[in-house]
Amino acid sequence: MIDHKVKVTFNRSALIGRELEYIQAAVLSGQIAGDQSFSRKCEKLLENTIACSRALVTTSCTHALEMSALLLDIRAGDEVIVPAFTFVSTPNAFVLRGAKPVFCDVRADTLNMNETKLEALITRRTKAIVPVHYAGVGCEMDTILEIANRHGIPVVEDNAHGLFGKYKGRWLGTIGALATQSFHETKNITCGEGGALIVNDGQYRQRAEILREKGTNRARFFRGEVDKYSWVDQGSSYVMSDVLAAFLFGQLEQWNLVQEKRRSVWQRYDSQLQDWSRTRGINRPFVPEHCEQAWHMYYLVLPTAADRDRFIAHLADHRIKAVFHYLPLHLSEFAAQWGGGIGDCPVTESVSDRLVRLPFYTSLTEEDQDLVIRKVIEFELG
Ligand SMILES: *Cc1c(COP(=O)(O)O)cnc(C)c1O
Repeated sequence: MIDHKVKVTFNRSALIGRELEYIQAAVLSGQIAGDQSFSRKCEKLLENTIACSRALVTTSCTHALEMSALLLDIRAGDEVIVPAFTFVSTPNAFVLRGAKPVFCDVRADTLNMNETKLEALITRRTKAIVPVHYAGVGCEMDTILEIANRHGIPVVEDNAHGLFGKYKGRWLGTIGALATQSFHETKNITCGEGGALIVNDGQYRQRAEILREKGTNRARFFRGEVDKYSWVDQGSSYVMSDVLAAFLFGQLEQWNLVQEKRRSVWQRYDSQLQDWSRTRGINRPFVPEHCEQAWHMYYLVLPTAADRDRFIAHLADHRIKAVFHYLPLHLSEFAAQWGGGIGDCPVTESVSDRLVRLPFYTSLTEEDQDLVIRKVIEFELG
């Protein structure tokens, strides 16, 4: 929703390429249900660009996570390790199947799952590890995979922020057995609401298609591999309408342009806020040498929660919308049933209180960004 009292919004979606033309083509083709030509184009583009064995577009990243939980046969009593600093869908998709989320604290530098805390959380009930590449900066995947493989536990990358980022030269989303993407309005590439499941481990490929199509082998039927389709497994309706896929394809085929533009916004913030932040003990995002980030967001971590709240209010006074981010999941009302408490994930608790995200979107103009930067630099700590 655009607030007209706001001069610079936090996020705003915009046309990047041929989205409207493609929507019209989809509608005029007479076939706008799921798994039609634009969905296939999106999937092929993803498969060819990030070199994954199968991409399936879905109704959301949340649903791709739910498909992951079904594919991994998550059941009541199982445990799933997730970062404490993430969106609710990361654990919720597994909780829906009866699993207990086990919260791992994050690293103070990247705000990603702290791989040095991971192994101590593994029990014989652990059935999945779900790292999130926060702000599109890769988690320490070598260590996470080494631990996961040693215990025989599959890894699902929640790559909602990280599409087109890399870790040690490997595309984010192609490293775990499964990965999930989001095309929600707030993400780099969008169709309003949408997502994708990336299947890297071939053993899940065929069942993923079936789960997405209400438990039927309709995908094989469409390809002419079977002469009728029938009910072969459990499943649900996770296919994306081709109207949305048409919009999505218009954005995806411009992915280089989107990433270039976002890189320039990110680097402008970072270079212009460098001196101001350094002299005040304000932290800027940290990107390890071996990570090529996905340019998803720009955030600052202020010294105290009070500073952060005053900072947001200061920008609001100048009609600039800056926002905080995830609240610690282990301290949420819903997580009380698993007995978490204050102090369990100290970095998450501390950062959550002090982090603020600056306006960041592909069509952000230099003029608007300059205003944000000017007003940020005016702010004095209390
Ligand atoms: C946005 C987001 C999701 C959910 O994506 P939807 O497509 O809205 O379901 C899940 N995980 C993370 C880390 C996200 O940022």
